[in-house]
Amino acid sequence: LSEEAQRALDEIEEKNVDFLRLQFTDILGTVKNVSIPAEQAEKAFTEGIYFDGSSIEGFVRIQESDMRLKPDPETFAILPWRNTDEHASARLICDVINTSTGEPFEGDPRYILKQALDRAEEMGFTVNAAPEPEFFLFEEDEDGRATTKTNDAGGYFDLAPKDLASDVRRDIIYGLEDMGFDIEASHHEVAQGQHEINFTYDDALTTADNVGTFRTVVRAIAAQHDLHATFMPKPIARINGSGMHTHISLFTEDGENAFHDDDDEFNLSESAKQFTAGILEHAPAITAITNPTVNSYKRLVPGYEAPVYVAWSDRNRSALIRKPAARVPAASRIEARFPDPSCNPYLAFAALIHAGLDGIEQGLECPDPVRENIYDFDEDKREEYGIETLPTNLGEAVDALEADEAIYSALGPHIGPKFVEAKKAEFQEYLVEVSQWELDQYLETF
Ligand code: GLN
Ligand code: MG
Ligand code: MG
Ligand code: MG
Repeated sequence: LSEEAQRALDEIEEKNVDFLRLQFTDILGTVKNVSIPAEQAEKAFTEGIYFDGSSIEGFVRIQESDMRLKPDPETFAILPWRNTDEHASARLICDVINTSTGEPFEGDPRYILKQALDRAEEMGFTVNAAPEPEFFLFEEDEDGRATTKTNDAGGYFDLAPKDLASDVRRDIIYGLEDMGFDIEASHHEVAQGQHEINFTYDDALTTADNVGTFRTVVRAIAAQHDLHATFMPKPIARINGSGMHTHISLFTEDGENAFHDDDDEFNLSESAKQFTAGILEHAPAITAITNPTVNSYKRLVPGYEAPVYVAWSDRNRSALIRKPAARVPAASRIEARFPDPSCNPYLAFAALIHAGLDGIEQGLECPDPVRENIYDFDEDKREEYGIETLPTNLGEAVDALEADEAIYSALGPHIGPKFVEAKKAEFQEYLVEVSQWELDQYLETF
């Protein structure tokens, strides 16, 4: 037993943990879990736990459905909302092993990210990432179903006796801190009912694990307040949507920030610029992964602080990639502003990292930053600056993914085709739907 595994076992004993939730994610980024009694913890660490993978989205065909979950002891955490002195539950994030080969399962998104990190390591880099997930808190109706009514709407600043939303947010933050998060800041976002909580950067794998945990904790604690937290990118038309800006930097083996250069005008190293150029080059294909729902493309429209055009900037927020001001060299990084919180964080980070590393490997040249508000550009001006547009819907994005070998192959031979198939079906289903907008426009007109 490893030292970490032993430490987890001790804590299970000490804190009266009865149940362990073994977690992993499907291709779509949904956290799945198998619950086991705590007595099986040791076996879980030594042998792993067998489960039937046939019922998990995109995992395996029925006839080859045996999988093994191998918990990562470093991810052990007590679930704060199920914790009393006598009884507690804990979770462990798992790697998925293919039982017939004993090798990591190609359909496990966590493995896909690990492969991207291996590529970075071969090039001499470790990868740090920090996301800024935004979400809405909505009221529930009498049946406990989510509405799109915000709980802090309608003059709450003047009238309400207490700031309901900030109470919930505080409880969410306590919950996250109990799970080991280091919270940097939290604030009410631009839209009514919209919030953002930022946590400290970490290596990209830990950060991807954290995103899944974050979504689970936010939803669970909102529910305790009879609120529905949603990470849907654009729940309400014509106001800001929810993004998941992702900050990335590469570090060298001796702990130097490989993205920092004191002498550069933007404090960005050549590697950082090539990495940026790689993301810009592959942006249309990456979008299918970082913005994977029909609804994602309702967010990527001009006017709501979400990117639409493929450019980078050291100033404005309409660009796809921004270079945030850094107080110390270690903080030099780039911010990809297109991802949204409906993405599978493992796949999204893997796609961004592969694109960036590709830029470094090919020595791609980074274009000049665009300092004006690109939303205001007309087509001629965009052409003059050579600025491309992101895919305008999921269908276009998936086509771009299929056409971009570097990004498509980053998903591996299992997830690539399954992902494309699932997303094409989702888009087709949407295309045949008749929306409320159409009824409002046409029903009485024609
Ligand atoms: N909500 C915006 C988005 O969709 C971001 C707003 C902000 O963080 N400044 O990306
Ligand atoms: Mg922010
Ligand atoms: Mg924000
Ligand atoms: Mg940001």
